[in-house]
Amino acid sequence: MRSIIHLLPDHVANQIAAGEVVQRPASVVKELLENAVDAKATSVTLIAKEGGKTLIQVIDNGSGMGDTDARLSFERHATSKINSAEDLFRLHTKGFRGEALASIAAVSHVEMKTKTEDDDLGSHLIIEGSTIVKQEPCVTPVGTSLSVKNLFFNIPARRNFLKSTTVEQKHVIDEFQRVALVHPSIAFKLIHNGSELFNLPGANHRQRIVGVMGAKTNEKLVPVKEETDLIKLMGFVGKPEFAKKSRGEQFFFVNDRFIKHPYLHHAVSSAFEGLLKDKAYPSYFLYLQVDPKSIDINIHPTKTEVKFDNEHAIYSILRSSVKHSLGQFNVSPVLDFNK
Ligand code: ADP
Ligand code: MG
Repeated sequence: MRSIIHLLPDHVANQIAAGEVVQRPASVVKELLENAVDAKATSVTLIAKEGGKTLIQVIDNGSGMGDTDARLSFERHATSKINSAEDLFRLHTKGFRGEALASIAAVSHVEMKTKTEDDDLGSHLIIEGSTIVKQEPCVTPVGTSLSVKNLFFNIPARRNFLKSTTVEQKHVIDEFQRVALVHPSIAFKLIHNGSELFNLPGANHRQRIVGVMGAKTNEKLVPVKEETDLIKLMGFVGKPEFAKKSRGEQFFFVNDRFIKHPYLHHAVSSAFEGLLKDKAYPSYFLYLQVDPKSIDINIHPTKTEVKFDNEHAIYSILRSSVKHSLGQFNVSPVLDFNK
């Protein structure tokens, strides 16, 4: 019988992969900011228009790329960050899948200018729906500027699914804040529809948290610090009297990545037991470091889910360190006379 199976062309495969990597403008923001961080930038600017629906541009002063790398960076599974599967257990970069730029380029109009320190001229590329339509030398500073326009121009169903500018902008800000909080030494700027929303100079963790969340945050913060064979923990929890009505200020970072982990979230919130009024959510900014061998971050393309080897032990350490910090700072129970 005639064979009916064939390999999909690259642009189709890229578009399918993009469905997982790029859910909305904020996903592009996350990938581009993480690439800038991986390129060892010390200063990163994000410019967005209409919640990122019409423009997302990230300008960094990182390593930049030579001509060939600039072209290769848009190929699927093309990465400079790992060579073998073993490298997954000693990751020190945000990226490793080599599919973000390929996916983004498959569903938008991309323009990139990039230059390394060693080159006199940089490279200017225009890519439309996975195809490089232009590459020529250009004058540009060391680093990379990448703009993504008209996201999902070729997938009307996705384009229509995008929410209002206000909603998409909120997601963009969330991603920006997560990356900025985890890399306090890097200067970050965010400009949305022409107005500067954040201008964060390089700082330490506490200063960065205050820069991101607002000046009033400073007095709320109680430091947390713990080191065991298993984990290194540092960061801050908010005093219970400042607890919020929403979960907006809960940040958990593992090995410099923002993650969502209901079980470990429970460890932190249960340390607040008896200290909070009903329906109040404690603020926290916790930075956990563990041996990269003891976690799997390759569960989902967006890498916000993580599997730990020692979940139960980490739960206990987390809970007791937060409890200890709250106790040390003489945080006393809220008296509720209505009960
Ligand atoms: P990954 O980050 O998983 O390697 P990407 O598709 O995001 O995959 O990027 C592909 C490659 O392009 C990276 O491995 C890196 O070498 C290069 N690259 C991407 N963005 C930048 C940047 N801002 N500066 C320098 N190099 C970059
Ligand atoms: Mg990447």
